[in-house]
Amino acid sequence: MVLYPTLVLDKTYLPVSIFSHKKAFLLELLNKCEVLEHYKTISLHSPSRNYPAPLVIRIPVLIRHWESSPTRRAVFIRDNFTCAYCGKTVKDNEATIDHIVPKSRGGKWQWENLVTCCSECNQKKGNKTPKEAGMELLFKPKKPSNFQISLNRWKNRFNEEFLGALSLYGIRNVEAI
Ligand SMILES: [Zn+2]
Repeated sequence: MVLYPTLVLDKTYLPVSIFSHKKAFLLELLNKCEVLEHYKTISLHSPSRNYPAPLVIRIPVLIRHWESSPTRRAVFIRDNFTCAYCGKTVKDNEATIDHIVPKSRGGKWQWENLVTCCSECNQKKGNKTPKEAGMELLFKPKKPSNFQISLNRWKNRFNEEFLGALSLYGIRNVEAI
């Protein structure tokens, strides 16, 4: 089954996540969410009738940040596939991950210690800190919000109606992570 994105708002109408339209529909059936908008072009089928798929739902809670460990790909996407040291754009299969504080020095697999790096810079930096290697970070890596991670995950499945909903709730530049 093809899954379509549903924008999830919390109690305060803040975009907090993206669910599949199927999951959102289940929440609707269980009365666990308020559907603010339905898709005009996408519906769910049952033997007896069709239901319009939820486009925007609101869940009656305040979402706190939960911890998420970064994946390689999430780091690349956060950094827009740009080497953090020379600014070069790297392709998916050429991108490497640099531990700013090297693993051998106790540097951890954490958003704040990981950046996208081209292979030349990675080789040059090796097992050193940026300072020791005489290299400078072009940006300070941060943990993206959970919503940004959701955007990344769903980015390839956005459709026109969903982009319209994002824009309605203030998310205009989905590439700017
Ligand atoms: Zn580089």
